[in-house]
Amino acid sequence: MNGLSACLHWREAIGSKHLDNLLRQLPQMQALLEKAHIRALLQTYTRPEVTRALRSMLEALRGSVRSGARTSLPDFESETFATSLASSIEARRRPSMRSVINATGIIIHTNLGRARLAPEAIAAMQEVGANYSNLEVDLNTGKRGSRYAHVEDLICDLTGAEAALVVNNCAAAVLLSLMATAQGKKVIASRGELIEIGGAFRLPDVIEQSGAILKEVGSTNKTRASDYERAIDSETAVILKSHTSNFRVVGFTSAPKREDLALLARNTDTILMEDLGSGVLIDLSAYGLRDEPVVSDILRSGVDLVMFSGDKLLGGPQSGIIAGRADLVGSLKAHPLCRAVRIDKLSLAALEATLRLYREPHNPLQSVPVLRAIAQTVGEVRARADWLADALIASGLEDVTVAKSAAYVGGGSLPQQDLESYAVSLSAPSYTADALVAALRSNEIPIIGLIRGDRFVMDARTLNDEDLPIVMHAFRGVRAR
Ligand SMILES: *Cc1c(COP(=O)(O)O)cnc(C)c1O
Repeated sequence: MNGLSACLHWREAIGSKHLDNLLRQLPQMQALLEKAHIRALLQTYTRPEVTRALRSMLEALRGSVRSGARTSLPDFESETFATSLASSIEARRRPSMRSVINATGIIIHTNLGRARLAPEAIAAMQEVGANYSNLEVDLNTGKRGSRYAHVEDLICDLTGAEAALVVNNCAAAVLLSLMATAQGKKVIASRGELIEIGGAFRLPDVIEQSGAILKEVGSTNKTRASDYERAIDSETAVILKSHTSNFRVVGFTSAPKREDLALLARNTDTILMEDLGSGVLIDLSAYGLRDEPVVSDILRSGVDLVMFSGDKLLGGPQSGIIAGRADLVGSLKAHPLCRAVRIDKLSLAALEATLRLYREPHNPLQSVPVLRAIAQTVGEVRARADWLADALIASGLEDVTVAKSAAYVGGGSLPQQDLESYAVSLSAPSYTADALVAALRSNEIPIIGLIRGDRFVMDARTLNDEDLPIVMHAFRGVRAR
């Protein structure tokens, strides 16, 4: 060991001794609870609240001593220490779920709650939540009714389906459909469509969970109708197609037409199912979304049963919609799993109200927030970005620009199709971009933006006009610090 490294070892030893000392000086919970200022907190807060706050305070202190971020301990006797405990208890008392402002440009952002609901849907939840309702009573006969009846006709009218059923979400819709039709039998799916959509929802696993046996056909990029045909035997119950909604294989690819698979299914007495994921009820190709098949077209091409989400492009509450052949929907309704994955009354009320917005005299592109965000012109988006940038400059920020940006539909839909957008890009004195993101995230109404390079960016496509004063207020707070 040479002189220098001996010296370093010696210094490290001193350092770790100091660290050990500090850690040893951290008081026990009981001792802390006996300190006058801390004991006084028990007049305002419950004992579990105070001990929980103390425990996490001690945990944080231990961490920052170990990491070297802290070389001394706070004064546990002080009023300041008790005040900071009180404010962490107050913070915990706030509701955990809160509204945030989505400045990410991702319209159906799963982590931010996917679709915002239309006022009509909120009103329906309010009405049904605050009162008794005819959830399962037929008001014409006075006899027991079905909760599914409230939306079945609407879904059939909008999709051309014979029958429909609504469950908790699309994952449940897929599971129920497979379980009720293919348990113990074979399900044939293309290797190019065995998707994972996140949250551990992998199609091969769901098929296994349903008790069906997966038979993969074709290759990642090419699967032909003849591949399916060869795989079908007397044990086969279902041909399953799925919308490869969150990735795309480009180049040398092919998949059979739905009509061809429908013919094959009919000739072999199997069921053609499609897990659509997003599922749109109206053609959105005029707004740049060319790859999202419309549910009614899919059913018309001969698919027996389709499953799609209520809170993706449909723009409603969390739910899973199953539409198609009446005999199949009937056996799904009769399956025991149906009860376990049933939709709750609030979501059902919101779904009915959202579906009604697809009918005259409404225009869903105006009334359904998800569709409105997609359909708004880039000029409208730019005007909102310009207004916000001007207001931020007027409030004293200097480095604010408006730049072209790309917004996304999100929610696993349309991976490559971005929507033309504009964003406000800025820096603030004495803030790194990371610090600015954190400061705005801790705003009373958190603002969730993006970092691009070293700048904080807010995409204006997911902002509403009502969000703008809140954003302005948050920046005043940031600048005041
Ligand atoms: C999103 C998605 C699902 C799951 O839908 P949830 O409503 O989130 O349960 C299933 N399949 C596909 C193809 C999807 O994109």
